[in-house]
Amino acid sequence: MEVLNILIKDHEKPHRLLQSLVMLQRMELNEREFDEVNRIMRTEMSGYKGELKLDYPLSRVHFPNHILHSIRLRNHGSPFQMDSLLLTPRFLLIIEAKNTPGKIYFSTQNDKMERELDGEISKYDNPVTQVEEQKYQLEHWCSNRNLPPIPIEHLVVFTNKNVDLQLNDFPSRDRGVELFSLNKKIRELSSQYSHSLTSMHGLKSIGHQIAHSHSPKKVDLIKELGLSKNEIKKGVICPSCNYLHMYYQKRKWSCPRCSYRSASAYIETLKDYYILESDKINTSTFQKITKLTARHHAYYYLNKLNLSVIGGGRSQKYKLEFKGEDFNYLIAPSHSLP
Ligand SMILES: [Zn+2]
Repeated sequence: MEVLNILIKDHEKPHRLLQSLVMLQRMELNEREFDEVNRIMRTEMSGYKGELKLDYPLSRVHFPNHILHSIRLRNHGSPFQMDSLLLTPRFLLIIEAKNTPGKIYFSTQNDKMERELDGEISKYDNPVTQVEEQKYQLEHWCSNRNLPPIPIEHLVVFTNKNVDLQLNDFPSRDRGVELFSLNKKIRELSSQYSHSLTSMHGLKSIGHQIAHSHSPKKVDLIKELGLSKNEIKKGVICPSCNYLHMYYQKRKWSCPRCSYRSASAYIETLKDYYILESDKINTSTFQKITKLTARHHAYYYLNKLNLSVIGGGRSQKYKLEFKGEDFNYLIAPSHSLP
């Protein structure tokens, strides 16, 4: 059977989300700082979960396509981001996911989206205007690379079940849809394009070019919030009860609170360091963050990971490389949001 939906690039957990999650666990925050980091975490988590909700309808697209998620490209240095991009030989479709609950209106006077929830009104930049800009940028990006001029469509998909879209007076209302009607909308768009401008093979190559040009967004939330990296708490966190810190004994890390023992809990400490501090580490920093008392233990555990080595002698460092799924430990079921 022919595979219709080919995934070229999966969703990425935003760096801002990962940093806020680690900060909540590892930083001494006062009430105001905690509320701020927690608010950022919830906003980022909700956006990320909204993007994941696109997977199900997109898996049901009935004609051959390639799909890429969490894409950030550059035109002459300036970045533009797309939540999801569907590639077909006849048209491309940029999808922006909005996981906002509540009653949604659009104001044409100031190009804002207004959301009413529990009697409170919040204003956002109009997401349709945002996705129109992405379309313009992607057209420009493709033409700079002499790619075939495939028409680009764009949609904002409201992924939250508790959304009440009020689009009557909104001129671009055909660009905003709820998740349940995404497939119907894609069929409508598809029926407008009858001829192919490239082969599936050509399309695959375009998809890979886009994936290779992707440059993930890096943030420094600690700096942004005026905090200091000295406030990051060191030690190995218990994967079972979140207690900081586990102590090292007989080739394992042990939790003094719940007695959980693990031979690998230090790897998450290293991932936390990677998210908040650097993608390079030396033995003495590793010894500090894991609170290992013996330097030869630090040396042993770091070498055990077969990391690439940069430099030599006293300045020798190890290069940390992780993939998106390596950070699943941060996204516990308790973080489930609507
Ligand atoms: Zn524990």
